[in-house]
Amino acid sequence: MNAAPADQLRLLDVQALDVRLTQLAHRRENLPEHAEIRSVETQLVHQRDLLVAAQTEESDTAREQTKAESDVDQVRQRAARDQQRLDSGQVSNPKDLESLQSEIASLARRQDDLETVVLEIMERHESAQARAKELAAGLEETQSRAAEVTARRDAALTEIDAEAATVRAERATAVEAVPADLLKLYEKLREQQGGIGAARLYQRRCEGCRLELNITELNEVRAAAPDTVVRCENCRRILVRTPESGL
Ligand SMILES: [Zn+2]
Repeated sequence: MNAAPADQLRLLDVQALDVRLTQLAHRRENLPEHAEIRSVETQLVHQRDLLVAAQTEESDTAREQTKAESDVDQVRQRAARDQQRLDSGQVSNPKDLESLQSEIASLARRQDDLETVVLEIMERHESAQARAKELAAGLEETQSRAAEVTARRDAALTEIDAEAATVRAERATAVEAVPADLLKLYEKLREQQGGIGAARLYQRRCEGCRLELNITELNEVRAAAPDTVVRCENCRRILVRTPESGL
């Protein structure tokens, strides 16, 4: 293939722009914020689960407490009624009197037991409440951290995308001047050779594969006409000659 030396040099400009685009895509893909966001999101899921569990415990114990307090109330009312009957002097039969007194005593013990249960539930409720409050605060903190990291990521992406748009525009201008067949070969090689299709021959070395040309290869390049498109024998990339090629 033949191409004017100036067109071959233009290919190096296109290559440099393509390298920049690849670097920008790599940067976009590997922003540290991506990993940070994944980790914050995992933490959010965990914290939300814990908060839901604590809130469930909080409402369960609130319900339990209401129920236990109403149990105490019933026992208290019944004891009050019994006491009233006893105080009224209406019950005179010794056997009934004894039974009434025994019931009052038994109700007092029962009330005592139920009040202990109420206290125990209250303690559990208070601790669930405190835990839910603490978890809600922790969750809020993580949420603001998530918002902060997301904003940081978005700013970085916007910056990269703007830079990439500029480079793509530069590339579009640069390829206009490159002959179609040379560009096609370059694109094909670039795809095959890890993003580098054209390399400078610099001080007898192919800058694509970094190998130094041997004497036979150098002689071939020296003998090639300036508009011959030379290829590296080792990596097959387009080798572009410049005044620093060491020929
Ligand atoms: Zn090479």
